[in-house]
Amino acid sequence: MVKILFISWRRIQSLIWGVVLAALSLAGIWGWSYYQAIKEEQSIKALSWVVANHIVAVDPGHGGIDDGAMGPGGTPEQKVNLDISKYLATYLSQGGARVFLTRQDANVYEGKSGDDLVERVKLSKRVGADLFISIHCNAFDNRESGCQVFYSPGSTEGKKLAEAIQASVKNKLKNTDRIAMGIDAYVLRTQDIPAVIVEVGFISNPKEEKLLADPLYQRQMAFAIYSGIIDYLTANT
Ligand SMILES: [Zn+2]
Repeated sequence: MVKILFISWRRIQSLIWGVVLAALSLAGIWGWSYYQAIKEEQSIKALSWVVANHIVAVDPGHGGIDDGAMGPGGTPEQKVNLDISKYLATYLSQGGARVFLTRQDANVYEGKSGDDLVERVKLSKRVGADLFISIHCNAFDNRESGCQVFYSPGSTEGKKLAEAIQASVKNKLKNTDRIAMGIDAYVLRTQDIPAVIVEVGFISNPKEEKLLADPLYQRQMAFAIYSGIIDYLTANT
């Protein structure tokens, strides 16, 4: 009886040690990846002087009577676009860029959506922007997922900027194998500066909709876009 008890106590002891070791190694892995993330964020911040002299128009897609898409769980695209745009604007401002948002809340513009697009480009030109970053969510079906960046087919610099952002999002968020693509869109076609539309993900996919509505993921997405902009400027200035 005593012996059995003794063995089972040893078993309990080794079980406890197993749990403790597992917890310690998990904490170690978490600590290490957290440390790596901080280190990477700092090295990107160290490079952020390249944005200092730039004027950036950040364009949260839709708003007002132009609702945009709606996720199956009820997340409105226009809100996700605005949230990510605001995080991106903060990163750019911290880097020393002058940033202009084409809308600051849910309902800025009145009138038809056609006029609304014209107003966005007008603002970008009026402030003398030298980069234009439009933020949207894609919508197709519940299976498609991942971020994709678009540029005007005629714009060499737009293509470079789009590819830099696409690569950065791919590396950092590991949510996509998509490649940057040319597209004929009013806000891109009408501007001479490097201009892109970042479709941050598919709001029509329930899994990705949840991510897109999550403030932490929104910040990570904004930071990935920001660091893509830095990569582009570092390579081209
Ligand atoms: Zn959209």
